[in-house]
Amino acid sequence: MTAVEAKQDTFDSLNPATDELVGSHPIHTADDVAAAVARARDAADWWAGLGFAGRADRLQRWKGVLTRRAAQLAEVVHAETGKPHADAMLEIILAIDHTSWAAKNASKVLGRKRRPAGLLMSNHAATVEFLPLGVVGVIGPWNYPVFTPMGSIAYALAAGNAVVFKPSEYTPGVGRWLVDSFAEVVPERLVFQQVTGFGETGAALCRAGVDKLAFTGSPATGKKIMAACAETLTPVLIEAGGKDALLVDVDADVEAAADAAVWGGMSNAGQTCVGVERVYVHEKVYDSFVAKVVEVAKDVRAGADAGAQIGPITMPGQLKIIQRHIADALARGGRALVGGADAVGERFVQPTVLVDVPEDSAAVREETFGPTLTIAKVADMDEAVEKANDSRYGLAAAVFSKRRGMELARRLRSGMTSINGVISFAGIPSLPFGGVGESGFGRIHGQEGLKEFARPKAIARQRFKAPLVLTTFSRTAKTDATVAKLVTLLHGKRR
Ligand code: NAD
Repeated sequence: MTAVEAKQDTFDSLNPATDELVGSHPIHTADDVAAAVARARDAADWWAGLGFAGRADRLQRWKGVLTRRAAQLAEVVHAETGKPHADAMLEIILAIDHTSWAAKNASKVLGRKRRPAGLLMSNHAATVEFLPLGVVGVIGPWNYPVFTPMGSIAYALAAGNAVVFKPSEYTPGVGRWLVDSFAEVVPERLVFQQVTGFGETGAALCRAGVDKLAFTGSPATGKKIMAACAETLTPVLIEAGGKDALLVDVDADVEAAADAAVWGGMSNAGQTCVGVERVYVHEKVYDSFVAKVVEVAKDVRAGADAGAQIGPITMPGQLKIIQRHIADALARGGRALVGGADAVGERFVQPTVLVDVPEDSAAVREETFGPTLTIAKVADMDEAVEKANDSRYGLAAAVFSKRRGMELARRLRSGMTSINGVISFAGIPSLPFGGVGESGFGRIHGQEGLKEFARPKAIARQRFKAPLVLTTFSRTAKTDATVAKLVTLLHGKRR
């Protein structure tokens, strides 16, 4: 059995495009969550005991199940988030690739390695290895309900931990699907479980004695998570929101940049943590860039029909925020070249391209999480970098430039940057993913993502007795003098 026993209330997950019922799920109490964590602790020892090869085998088999039944999972994602089936497939494909990478590389990244012992301790063999933490709690959002939590789940499992997952209340069916499919390849123990409910269930997971809590969601909730975890000194990983900028240099491929800006800003109806929200364009290519963006964005339509490229706004409360950002931008002198005041409907938001928006307005400073872009003209790329970096967020960014891509990318205060593309880093499993500032801290994906769910264990083994023994009360003054001379010889030359 993979479900947590539920005697209590349930809640419904609805299709945001139609309000049709997708499924009912238990609201797990603090006691239920504690029981799930206790079961996970049991399973964690068994799972760790399988070793890297045993776990890799199970994870690769799980990857096979995910791949063969991707269309079925995409159907659940589509039903619960409203996003087009093809977009759901895209995030599932990325998650599959990451799961495979984590399984394949965990041994190499986390396994025992020798470290140089240094001259003073040359009679020792020094090793470090990265051991599992035990039980990892994962709290996820709804916008990429497969790809986003799997960045923590797959990497935590590969590192040898059991996982208790609390999916968003908007996408519990997706979480259920993931847990059930994992149980098909790991039927022996409850290595990967799900608890469902609202914020209180998530808060209970923070307080349930997990060894680490990996959170993905808004900065406001991230602060609550940290506060709850602080009570028990439970370490946290925070993957929060962003206000990502795209820079267009004077020598950029303007057509490609415009196409990328529209896709980066509008795909998934703009509900992407690393989506493009702001664009800064060199004045010499501004007009041609804006014209191309308008041409491309005009053909993008939100709707529930098969011809629509983007779906509904999944979380109804977000509609008001998007509307406020657009209205504020227009009231303060901004102009809508596509969409505008009427773009926000009851469920769908049509693409909106805003120009001449003051830099201190909500549409430029706060995460909009809708299919909107602000485009601003800059005199040069120094101004573009300065404006892009003037944000309390720092998740990702993009640069379009032929000559200066690397230089500009390195100057951007963000965890990830794509050059001549958008969101490219997310598809490269070896690259770490995470932000700075209010976008959070810690990393999923890549080596760093595996190490995030492990504790370094250092061991110093004495191989033979040293001529100079320092760690004894029978140490002589002669030994001290010899050591002092040795240290001076080693480190005393440089003034
Ligand atoms: P959210 O913060 O509202 O909710 C996220 C999760 O936290 C949900 O499962 C929710 O039930 C839970 N939660 C709510 N209150 C809680 C509490 N007090 N204690 C514990 N858990 C609690 O975020 P959301 O609306 O689901 O997701 C959208 C946000 O996520 C955006 O800001 C987006 O940028 C961000 N996001 C970030 C990344 C990233 O990798 N950095 C990825 C995807 C989404």
